[in-house]
Amino acid sequence: MQITPSSPQTFQVADLQLLAENVYRVILRPHQGRRPDFRPGQYLEIILNDGKACAFSIASTFGQKELELHIQKIPTSINSIELFNALESGHVQIRMPKGRCFLPEGLESAVDKQLVFIAASTGFAQMKSMIEFTLAQPKHPDIYLYWGASSPEGFYLPNLPVYWASPHFHYHPVVSGTTEKDGWQGRQGLLFEAVIDDKDFFTNSEIFISGSPQMVYATFDALLACHFQAEQIHSDVFEYAPRS
Ligand SMILES: Cc1cc2nc3c(=O)[nH]c(=O)nc-3n(C[C@H](O)[C@H](O)[C@H](O)COP(=O)(O)OP(=O)(O)OC[C@H]3O[C@@H](n4cnc5c(N)ncnc54)[C@H](O)[C@@H]3O)c2cc1C
Repeated sequence: MQITPSSPQTFQVADLQLLAENVYRVILRPHQGRRPDFRPGQYLEIILNDGKACAFSIASTFGQKELELHIQKIPTSINSIELFNALESGHVQIRMPKGRCFLPEGLESAVDKQLVFIAASTGFAQMKSMIEFTLAQPKHPDIYLYWGASSPEGFYLPNLPVYWASPHFHYHPVVSGTTEKDGWQGRQGLLFEAVIDDKDFFTNSEIFISGSPQMVYATFDALLACHFQAEQIHSDVFEYAPRS
């Protein structure tokens, strides 16, 4: 199902909560009480006063009335500062749904496949929506989540993947830059290296990647070098930052 983006609508900022350093959970409520229409994995745009659109993955899952976003505040970005001014005003203009990197219908119950979600930082938001939708199905594929952060504090909702725990959900947090002081006992290094180390667990998979173009293409190239097919790898980056 392809949902066509609507013209901008006003949403109330129902909650703005600091989750970790510079990462906020934002809850948006539609003004006219209409349930937002989107597929798990899609994103929306917040329209700033000057007409600039800022993209954010939808972290809530399909069917919920309120929208959840995970937004990183970037103190050096004028757009980010303007965005937080708009959020603090209590109302924002939203254009949605956007993006073609979403869970295709039927995949959430294709038990002969594996779903692999690879998220850098707030890329977790997009994966949360698809994972919660999949876990809500009576039968679902095995799910692998690789979440990367530069320090352990970067896992801004650390208990949520633990809450999802089941024999069919495999969670791998990976920290790229730890120090002894962090006390981190888990996996370390580049996110795509952890994925490649585990590649034999998901040979019949659909793979979703969220993060910067550099991170997404590095992961994509590493997967192709290990004989994964381009058709089984999905990311918004392929649409908004194509390689020329
Ligand atoms: C499709 C898409 C989804 C995004 N989702 C989020 C999100 O859920 N949470 C969030 O804090 N920011 C997200 N961003 C980045 C966010 O739009 C910008 O940080 C924000 O608009 C500030 O604008 P800017 O001009 O400083 O950054 P811009 O220069 O507009 O930032 C665009 C850059 O954002 C980076 N980016 C792409 N996806 C993500 C992501 N999921 N998380 C962090 N950075 C990303 C890429 O490196 C891209 O080059 C997303 C960006 C895109 C294109």
